Amino acid sequence: MARYVGSVCRQCRREGAKLYLKGDRCYSDKCSFSRRSYAPGQHGQKQARKKVSEYGIQLREKQKARRMYGVLERQFHAYFEKADRQKGITGENLLVMLERRLDNVVFRLGFASSRTQARQLVRHGHFMVNGHRVDIPSYLVKPDAVIQVKEGSKESPLLKENLEALATKTVPAWLELSPQDATGKVVRFPAREEIDVPIQEHFIVELYSR
Ligand code: SF4
Repeated sequence: MARYVGSVCRQCRREGAKLYLKGDRCYSDKCSFSRRSYAPGQHGQKQARKKVSEYGIQLREKQKARRMYGVLERQFHAYFEKADRQKGITGENLLVMLERRLDNVVFRLGFASSRTQARQLVRHGHFMVNGHRVDIPSYLVKPDAVIQVKEGSKESPLLKENLEALATKTVPAWLELSPQDATGKVVRFPAREEIDVPIQEHFIVELYSR
């Protein structure tokens, strides 16, 4: 599957927000966005002073969400269409769907330090969902799903470090974590106020409704 291979931090600077794509580095003073919070490129600093059109605002909001969750355009649009067909508020449905992705849940449970790392770990087959190995990052979890680190994977160097830090981890209220056996559970779908991403989803709905 296609994936973004450019500079990761550049995406934060382009969106004008921290997207937390690099794990621990994002919380340190090495964060590129903290050092240079203007758009990348030769004219990046001038762009901050430019008036942005309504379309521009909507587009940036969509790109921010897409990049934060690591989803390519076609799949993101498919999520939107699905969210639009569901009952309730389309923008909220969209965010809930993004949160339900297995890579996001693995990240939220603390099994990975970023969504990018979570995606890599899922792809390498380190997780079981309800007792079955699932290596599809976009797999959508349902309430009562149990996510478990595979027994043989607990010694994998990347995972080991994350698992050791689990005891200090706080997870959102819609998830449950059992650090001793490296297992998490989806209690229910998240409510909008429990999704702590700096995204104004109504702009995304407006963009796709044009
Ligand atoms: Fe974004 Fe993290 Fe890079 Fe900072 S360190 S610019 S938050 S990806």
